[in-house]
Amino acid sequence: MSEQRDINKDYLFLTIIGSGSFGKVHKVQSRKDNQIFACKEIDYGKMAEKERKLLVHECNTLKELHHQQIVSYVDRYLDKIHSKIFIVMEYCENGDLARYIKRHKQERSFIAEDKIWSVLVQLLNGLKYCHQDMYPQAGHRVIHRDIKPGNVFLTKDGSVKLGDFGLCRSLNDQSQAATNVGTPLYMPPEILAKQPYSEKADVWSLGCVIYELAALQPPFQATNMDSLKIKVRSGAKPSLPSTYSAQLRQIIDLMLENSQTKRQSVLELIQFPKVQKMQQLMIEKGMPGAPTEFPQQTPPQVSAQVLTKQTPLTIENKVEELKQMFVKKDRETELKEWEERLREKEEELKMRERALRDREERFSR
Ligand code: ADP
Ligand code: MG
Repeated sequence: MSEQRDINKDYLFLTIIGSGSFGKVHKVQSRKDNQIFACKEIDYGKMAEKERKLLVHECNTLKELHHQQIVSYVDRYLDKIHSKIFIVMEYCENGDLARYIKRHKQERSFIAEDKIWSVLVQLLNGLKYCHQDMYPQAGHRVIHRDIKPGNVFLTKDGSVKLGDFGLCRSLNDQSQAATNVGTPLYMPPEILAKQPYSEKADVWSLGCVIYELAALQPPFQATNMDSLKIKVRSGAKPSLPSTYSAQLRQIIDLMLENSQTKRQSVLELIQFPKVQKMQQLMIEKGMPGAPTEFPQQTPPQVSAQVLTKQTPLTIENKVEELKQMFVKKDRETELKEWEERLREKEEELKMRERALRDREERFSR
């Protein structure tokens, strides 16, 4: 973020879409091609140096996330005079799940179960990408930390996208000391208890979102933090309307597991029979948000070591991770080497196949 560019030269500010815990979100229009985007304005003036550095890091992370279930990053601008950062991103015109749920609540209509499974499949695939697939490219895992209905966006074609990715992590660290803490309703017990956490935190929050799509209210509600913590620990939540299947209740319970170790990972949840079935159906019918990627190859050796280690996310660990990233070989070179190794493996396999065929021919002769 060394160069200073004026966002007003490139974008026209149209309206304010809303304000969140960390600043305003504007609807903007590109002066170049009239395309519409959303632009998040963040005031970093009151942030400590450490948090600012993390914010820059998170912006870089955001840039690297390329998945159809993640709101895409377009550009960023730094206004040093007013200590503001503007993040330009894809505009999702159909609003977010919070609005969608509210509408259903007002109309007293249930959300169709298939719709809920489709949202779950899409979010699991988006999270799988962040928790695992993007690792070889970025060299680190990405945990959202703030999954809630207001951060899941609906697009024109009917698919869903996770928004506010990555940003929340550094911003939340800062906000814990400040007054503008986001809603704790979707926070897992480990975060509520200020304990170390992992990507399983996202699984808990996803469980809350899926529960809310069915019940039209969050699973754990309270008027203060202490009673929220007690409710979350007890696991007592109102039962879902009887129209929903036992499988849906079952997968929600797997996600709303108090113990981080017992709570299933995104990869495990993708193996859930109904998720597999829904995924297949979405592919066959070409439904919006149908998964497009196929199982990936094993990531490069250097990365695998850190990936399997469930490092709790604390500022110290993050700084350590960053340090490791800097000393690590250039990622591009690493990937190229990995591709080279794959090519060599393919060649080797082809040669073996040829030899086998030759042998079979000789044998039959
Ligand atoms: P919060 O802190 O509650 O997550 P945000 O600052 O992320 O709030 O967002 C504020 C408002 O802007 C919300 O109504 C949200 O739906 C909307 N919004 C955020 N990002 C986008 C986007 N990419 N496209 C459309 N609307 C968005
Ligand atoms: Mg948000």
